[in-house]
Amino acid sequence: MNQILFIVGARGAGKTTVGKLLANELSYTFIDTDHHIQQTSNMTIADIVSQQGWQQFRQLESQALQQVSQSNRVISTGGGIILSAENRQYMRQNGTVIYLQASASILAERLMQQPENTQRPSLTGKSIVEEMEEVLAARENLYCECANHIINAQLSPEKITAYVKEMILSGIIS
Ligand code: ADP
Ligand code: MG
Repeated sequence: MNQILFIVGARGAGKTTVGKLLANELSYTFIDTDHHIQQTSNMTIADIVSQQGWQQFRQLESQALQQVSQSNRVISTGGGIILSAENRQYMRQNGTVIYLQASASILAERLMQQPENTQRPSLTGKSIVEEMEEVLAARENLYCECANHIINAQLSPEKITAYVKEMILSGIIS
């Protein structure tokens, strides 16, 4: 086993939760690209976006993706990482991409349960459900196109982890 697992999906899909658990189960290192960007820039994502704009954030994100990509890692990515064709190609060429797929209503429900929802600024200024619907309409194809494996994000983090581990042990992910 000598691989990189990239976890992609919208905000609230469970990328951080599942990624941590999976890394722990596999004895891999867990990395979150948003966390890496915040550490290296010493700014929150919200501050980077409000002060420098989305375009600059997206550039930092692409750099971060390549900086953290080393074998035996589970890398949880930001929801918009798949917007860049370069990022999609990079992940496909350097590892296995797992899409945690969830509906807009599930995502919105989870995000509304997080009061300290300061990690990411609103993309559009609309309600969370409307926002997630728009985000998925724009991104669902890209998530699916990029993914090697699509997993129902409504399964428990433990079930998702067991499923991915099984795919590795059986050679489906190699
Ligand atoms: P992401 O990193 O994709 O934005 P998080 O891992 O931060 O998502 O999870 C968002 C919220 O959803 C958290 O409150 C988390 O506890 C919850 N959550 C994550 N995965 C699941 C799951 N498989 N089932 C139910 N709730 C989940
Ligand atoms: Mg996260």
